[in-house]
Amino acid sequence: MQGLIQPYPLTTTAILEYGNRVFHHKRIITYLPDGTRHAYTFGEMYLRCKQLANALRNTLGVGRGDMVGTFAWNHGPHVELYYGVSGMGAVCHTINIRLSSNQIEYIINHSEDKVIFVDATLVPLLEKIANQLETVEHYVLINAPADFSTTLPNTLHYEDLLAEQPDEYDWPEIDENEACGMCYTSGTTGLPKGVLYSHRSTYLHALTIMTPNAGNLSSQDIALLVVPQFHVMAWGYPYVCVMAGADMVMPSSNLQPAALVDILQRERVTRANGVPTIWLGIYHELKKNPPAEKLALREYVVGGSALPKSLIAGFERDFGIRGVHAWGMTETSPLGTLSRIQSKHASLSDDEQLTIRAKQGIAFPGIELRVVSEDGTPVPRDGQTMGELQIRGAWVINAYFKTLNKESFTADGWFRTGDVSTIDEDSYMEIKDRTKDLIKSGGEWISSVALESALMAHPGVKEAAVVAIPDDKWVERPLASVVLLEGAGRVTPEDLMDFLSPNFVSYQIPRDFVFLKDVPKTSVGKFDKKEIRRRHAAGELV
Ligand code: ADP
Repeated sequence: MQGLIQPYPLTTTAILEYGNRVFHHKRIITYLPDGTRHAYTFGEMYLRCKQLANALRNTLGVGRGDMVGTFAWNHGPHVELYYGVSGMGAVCHTINIRLSSNQIEYIINHSEDKVIFVDATLVPLLEKIANQLETVEHYVLINAPADFSTTLPNTLHYEDLLAEQPDEYDWPEIDENEACGMCYTSGTTGLPKGVLYSHRSTYLHALTIMTPNAGNLSSQDIALLVVPQFHVMAWGYPYVCVMAGADMVMPSSNLQPAALVDILQRERVTRANGVPTIWLGIYHELKKNPPAEKLALREYVVGGSALPKSLIAGFERDFGIRGVHAWGMTETSPLGTLSRIQSKHASLSDDEQLTIRAKQGIAFPGIELRVVSEDGTPVPRDGQTMGELQIRGAWVINAYFKTLNKESFTADGWFRTGDVSTIDEDSYMEIKDRTKDLIKSGGEWISSVALESALMAHPGVKEAAVVAIPDDKWVERPLASVVLLEGAGRVTPEDLMDFLSPNFVSYQIPRDFVFLKDVPKTSVGKFDKKEIRRRHAAGELV
């Protein structure tokens, strides 16, 4: 028997309409690349989304299902693009500005973007490849002065484009399963692959991230969105904030630790997100220049790579700010799990609670996880047995855009993450590694993530990345690339080995260390292990 409930479509427009109706006075505050501050309300943003939808249809000839690219930092107009493009039935394709020119060219041609909205400061990156772009009919310049000069063809200015349009627009009826956005994976394992999000998946992901067991956002909050909008719909926060009525603070390219701390202070930000490297930078900035007044920041959510336990502990001890660990992938919209302790953990010691919080956490309602052994059978949920992490759920990819990749899916409909993990009795998942990053030494598996987190707990270590290098005797052995903190004094490999020895058995402990100024990073700020492995491909240590 069918239920007797209205088939109300879960669309991004439903989020926008709600935000405008209930929270029209809430603010979007942008720090532009030149440091100037711009603030306006959800109500004003709403009208501009309608102007944008008119411009897309009337001036740019964009229709239902067309791809509209964005090549931009986090700011008000980028939020308008999230809602305006998908609201009129087109697909908002966020392009990762930090990829290589070849990858960007590949992505734009593969997705068949019809228009690209580009920040003035990022125009040179597109100018280099514009001749190779086969489908782009117009480039719309955001935050560009009137006399801006560019070799890009068919350019328009965003503000001019909007100014000539009415702010009345009848949103079309959209089936909640239609595509609203697209993001390509960052191509750490081959060519980038397109992931096409639906209105429904975006709505459900946002609704979930808003809840207390997840991101816990409400109209009491002022949220700093550090995760770049060009990556995985910036973890849903541009939708969550509008749903929750939280003010949104957008840093655009002001991502240096000192600039972020300044924004946190000035705007009295209460919640934020970002990858671990951002929060590591902020932590050391706060240590170096302690703020005169206690920050209003209560919590920051971290995902993308492992959040070291030592960083969670340090932030809490020194500044009373809670780090919350989350896990996800481009293919999972992206958030799949998040780690908070529960009431039953209240009697555990601080360290035991930290150990739980340093895990990647519990799957959200609407998401299921399983860990399977090499023969495909689920392993025990004992927190010990490792295997491949598989996922299914309401915002998990079903197929890649125009790419088969059958090997990414199991016959019974689960997505294979390529992560190696455990799940414990209480359903907390812990990432041990990516399949290709695991180190197999003398027939035993070594988790590079565990070694990295442990090394980063050393008081003299800022960053540590561990990869496998070839070894005649053991096939592979771990190599640690380490960045020392300024003023750390002398830290030797022996010091680090001693530091690791209480928590690792001897074969797991790296004997080889290289000390660097900076660990190479990927386009989304993770340790670039492919690059590190390339440097040491023949086992050499320089
Ligand atoms: P890409 O796959 O292109 O690197 P994603 O942003 O989709 O880009 O990365 C997803 C991967 O990042 C996951 O499969 C996992 O290996 C890693 N990851 C994400 N969050 C965490 C986390 N909290 N801890 C450890 N690894 C993480």
